[in-house]
Amino acid sequence: MTDLVAATATQPATKGGVLSRAALLRAYEQSQDAILVTDRDNLIVAANGAFCQLSGYASDELLGKDPRVLASDNSTAEHYASIWNALATKDFWEGEIWDKNKNGERYNRWLKIAVLRDAEGQIENHVANFSEMEASKEYADRLAYLAYHDPLTNLPNRLAFESQLAQALRGCERDNRQLALMLIDLDNFKNINDTLGHHVGDELLQKVALRLRESVRSSDLVARIGGDEFVIVLPEIESPLTAARVANKVQQNMADSYRIADHALYATPSIGISLFPIDGSDANTLLRNADTAMYHAKDAGRNNHQFYTARMNEAAGERLHMENELRQAISAISPGDSEFSLHFQPQVQTATGQVFGLEALLRWNNPIFGQVSPMRFIAIAEETGLIQPLGDWVIWETCRLIRQMKQHGIEDIRIAINISAQQLRHENLLLLVRGALSCYDLRPEDIELEITESTAMQNPETTLSILDQLAAMGIVLAIDDFGTGYSSLAYLKHLPIQRLKLDRSFVKDIEIDANDAAICTATIALGHSLGLELVAEGVETEAQRAFLASLGCDTLQGYLYSKPMPFEETIAYLKAHQAARP
Ligand code: C2E
Ligand code: MG
Ligand code: MG
Repeated sequence: MTDLVAATATQPATKGGVLSRAALLRAYEQSQDAILVTDRDNLIVAANGAFCQLSGYASDELLGKDPRVLASDNSTAEHYASIWNALATKDFWEGEIWDKNKNGERYNRWLKIAVLRDAEGQIENHVANFSEMEASKEYADRLAYLAYHDPLTNLPNRLAFESQLAQALRGCERDNRQLALMLIDLDNFKNINDTLGHHVGDELLQKVALRLRESVRSSDLVARIGGDEFVIVLPEIESPLTAARVANKVQQNMADSYRIADHALYATPSIGISLFPIDGSDANTLLRNADTAMYHAKDAGRNNHQFYTARMNEAAGERLHMENELRQAISAISPGDSEFSLHFQPQVQTATGQVFGLEALLRWNNPIFGQVSPMRFIAIAEETGLIQPLGDWVIWETCRLIRQMKQHGIEDIRIAINISAQQLRHENLLLLVRGALSCYDLRPEDIELEITESTAMQNPETTLSILDQLAAMGIVLAIDDFGTGYSSLAYLKHLPIQRLKLDRSFVKDIEIDANDAAICTATIALGHSLGLELVAEGVETEAQRAFLASLGCDTLQGYLYSKPMPFEETIAYLKAHQAARP
């Protein structure tokens, strides 16, 4: 305290409105703000009562110490360097700081440091004033900004969107104008996030935000309201055609790839559009209807836009109805008597044309919905968690049927079972597989497990540990739908897999699309160089077979050989093929 007293003592005595030394001292001592004074060597020479209370130290415990004793490890060395730099050049610094008290508890304050110099310009003291964060205008501004903006993209957030939409709707109502609300969901984003990591996902979202902003006028609102969900509000449209034009422009702007961390990534939009006043007069209804339309855009093959129609709600109702039926069918599962069954599709050795394996594919025949495509009901089962019991049933049922095949004298046929991401999340899968194999007295070589590329990249640690244990049991593992995610072969080679199944979208146009042909050629060559066996899915024509054979693809599966068949038909097929063997 002495230096400060000495410094103030040299000030002229008070006259008129100037503070007296005693008043200055009182102000310092009684200040609500914590104040700390250091000398030119930055050693503490004074700490007022508020500071002692804040820090928990008595003032004589602080005197002569470096304020560094108060620092928490929350602030980096660069942060401190920038503070000293500002003090050296401007004699002043202010900003948020994290310190710790005597008990080691951290606290943050808005800190202002001023440098006091003598007549020669030499530093005499540093005076540090710690105020409550809320008291600072900068902090208040920052809080207000964060409350209404998404920190990643700097776009308005959901809260800002809701209030601006409500305001725009009031204006439209008053002036009898129409408004369009577009809900945009990125296709494939989850895949990118899961396979390439969140930092790549985050960068992609930032670039998408820029392209969206560039697609509209400055008076239109663009906001981010969820992970990969954005909205655009067009507050003044003459007719729905304007909204359609903007949607087309958004699609065009987003069609090009994004270059991030050496990857060329695509994030096309699925857009749902609702209009004020015909599709709703309040924000909630408009958003709900745009959401319904967006799901229709996804169902219609993604990368397109759909206007909401009342009929779509019937479809949403149907989806819920289907979920309920699925739930009931699963709870009523019993062996040999259920709405579910397995079909089997042969896998054929390219070189010999011999069947050596089958893929088990789940079928659902419901009294109300009839035969439902697995693409549809498995997506619902995955969204609702029902895939867990359903997937468990598939494993048991496959093993039961393999036992029956063996009773028909069919040996040495390996059956591949599709496993979904949720089944790989915990070790139950290991117990289940072991249990089913031993219950039906099967060998690990009798089954194979297929996981999709994006599944393989989720929760890499748990997944890897489970896959390692399955492989250690002697079970063959395959990557399904390879080429649809963004994993690299370099990563996949760390997984204990033996087979790669090339997605049928590449096989489909292999003879006409030079790109698809090049991808197949490269994948097969690279896969082989990593010691993997290559399987092509969806082989439908003789020309595709010949092309894949010329590339050395080991195994083929597709309608060219057979569609998936019910169990009895599969037995007949296998017997006929066994009989035909030389
Ligand atoms: P996937 O595992 O890639 O299965 C191959 C799909 O391609 C099957 O469709 C099959 O019928 C179809 N396919 C086979 N050859 C051809 C062909 O030459 N041309 C064409 N156009 N298609 C062909 P499916 O049976 O509709 O199954 C669709 C997807 O549903 C499967 O794709 C798989 O991801 C999933 N799935 C099926 N069964 C199960 C299951 O038990 N568990 C899980 N988790 N998913 C399953
Ligand atoms: Mg499969
Ligand atoms: Mg597949």
